Amino acid sequence: MQHDNGRLVALGVREAGSDAEAQASQFLLQSLRASGIDVEVREVPLPTGGTSSNLLARFGVGGTHVLFGAHFDSKPPSPGADDNGSGTVVLLELARRLVEAPPQDGIVTLAFFGAEEILVGYDGNSHHFGSRLLAEQMAEGGELPDLMISADMVGVGEQIVAATYLDADPSAAELIAEAAAELGLTVQLIQRGDISDHEAFARLGVPSAFLWRPDNPDYHQATDLEVRTEALLEDLAILEAVLELTTES
Ligand SMILES: [Zn+2]
Repeated sequence: MQHDNGRLVALGVREAGSDAEAQASQFLLQSLRASGIDVEVREVPLPTGGTSSNLLARFGVGGTHVLFGAHFDSKPPSPGADDNGSGTVVLLELARRLVEAPPQDGIVTLAFFGAEEILVGYDGNSHHFGSRLLAEQMAEGGELPDLMISADMVGVGEQIVAATYLDADPSAAELIAEAAAELGLTVQLIQRGDISDHEAFARLGVPSAFLWRPDNPDYHQATDLEVRTEALLEDLAILEAVLELTTES
């Protein structure tokens, strides 16, 4: 995962709609396909006139549908090792494991989201473009998931948080805490507003949560250059434990 994270950081600031963001999308697409994973690419139009993208990889058939998402763009001037190269590489590693051992009873969709961060020069609601578009597409197609978790900034701090969007259904955050407890890890449950890619799904009534390590002094700065291997491994294990609780018969 460190290697993948380094590849993303080496692209520079992955601002939504930029060449670097498009290169990150290509890197993820090629990495997934190299592991024999089918990937669907969906364009994400931006109000800047530019374009971002979502990458979707689906594993398993029938039963409970779990969606994990991570955004791969970053906010200038940050090269986004933690925000959100961390969640991105955790999902990339999870994809490689799921293609070898798909869920026994259920569907897992992994979404690599473009354009999560607030666009420079736009208002504070001009963000989450990739995840909001996917939520809308899934709602229109009658295929909203039963559970959604956004892995965002999961590579630095010691403290692990599962955040519910405001007063929405807290069951997804509770499930994260239950899964983590099985691994001997403590997760704090909190409520937060309009941050991260679970927001659009929570607003549509999907039990949704934001897996987060909030303690990163380099957040949104040019110094967001490194992540901790131990943190990435713990977060990967938490997501796998969530799948054990939801998609294994
Ligand atoms: Zn982020």
